[in-house]
Amino acid sequence: MPLKGGKLMLLFRNWLIVFLLIFPSVSYGLPYRSIRSHELTLRKHGITSFGNFKPLILDYKKLYANSPNSYNGSLSIIRILAIYRYLEQRTPSKFYRRKLREYATNVVLHSKNRHARAFSYFALYSLYKKSDLSVKSLWKRRLITEYPESWEAKLIKGNNIKKVTRNIAKPLTGKLIVIDPGHGGKDSGARGYFGIMEKTLVLKIGKMLRRDLRKQGASVLMTRSTDIFIPLAARTIFADKHHADMFVSIHANAARDRNITGIETFFLTTKAGKKTLLIASRDRGLTPNQLGVVKKIIVGLVQNAKINRSSILAKDIQKSILKTIKAKRRNLGVRQSSFYVITGTKMPSVLVETGFISNRNGARLLLNPLHEERIAEGITLGIIKYFKQN
Ligand SMILES: [Zn+2]
Repeated sequence: MPLKGGKLMLLFRNWLIVFLLIFPSVSYGLPYRSIRSHELTLRKHGITSFGNFKPLILDYKKLYANSPNSYNGSLSIIRILAIYRYLEQRTPSKFYRRKLREYATNVVLHSKNRHARAFSYFALYSLYKKSDLSVKSLWKRRLITEYPESWEAKLIKGNNIKKVTRNIAKPLTGKLIVIDPGHGGKDSGARGYFGIMEKTLVLKIGKMLRRDLRKQGASVLMTRSTDIFIPLAARTIFADKHHADMFVSIHANAARDRNITGIETFFLTTKAGKKTLLIASRDRGLTPNQLGVVKKIIVGLVQNAKINRSSILAKDIQKSILKTIKAKRRNLGVRQSSFYVITGTKMPSVLVETGFISNRNGARLLLNPLHEERIAEGITLGIIKYFKQN
């Protein structure tokens, strides 16, 4: 009976759809589009940790292994290459380069898909630096002769490549840095000679720093770019939310002893001494006790790796500021700190105390725009140095 059969078929079809929704990987393989959208989300947020991409690579690999010459199979291998290329550009490493070479070579040897092959030639081409010009030009030649119409070939042939390399050549391209000018709004921070308020001063330097970092190719966000009050915790949450590569807080110092002057840079530690706690509490308006509690809660979660990176960054910044200001001012050095503002973040984080406005000379210097520019320049150079080596 045709009607009954039709109903049965309908029922069967509905069950099949439900089944496929629950177990998408069972009969049609893994859904390429959902892996791809997950990947794009990670990339959009500038995530660069291999751990996040590894499961996606495995999923793509399964798709590729199921049917290497199918449309989705070919796209999958391109995505794997694209992920390794992305990671390599963000954080160059031998591991990524090796993987890129392995996968690309595999495609060149086995895949029949022209897009996958063109992309692999392109990946191999870009793997080699000037020192391996002969290998580099080999892949370039093969790409251009076999797939002259591909965008990869056009990119290499055309003037575009010059633009691309010029952009990549900027030392901070692809980095997202959060600048945090301290205090603001009802919280004026330290007050010093000539009516200087810390909140105004650090905002000015922060904006100079933003301009300098952007010139070097970085993307920059500021926790505040106007005179508004922002709670401490919100500042680090802001940086975490944007998956920043670095967090730089800018402050100016004040001390009861008006003779004290100099520049110091803080990085996070789990073992802050009593003196640091006192300094921190004075600057934050918390009692050492309150700060100790905060420290205990948060610091326990922070990894040693981050502390090391932060301390390297602090040293790089401190060193280059002293170089750019060319003054025989007191180098107060790099110190550990349990500033709440730093402990919350997951990225290398520092707090720069740009000088003492409670010292007459220090205040005069910080009112000089040329000196402020030099401080911003020093921080920028320190950051560039850090990213070169880390
Ligand atoms: Zn401050």
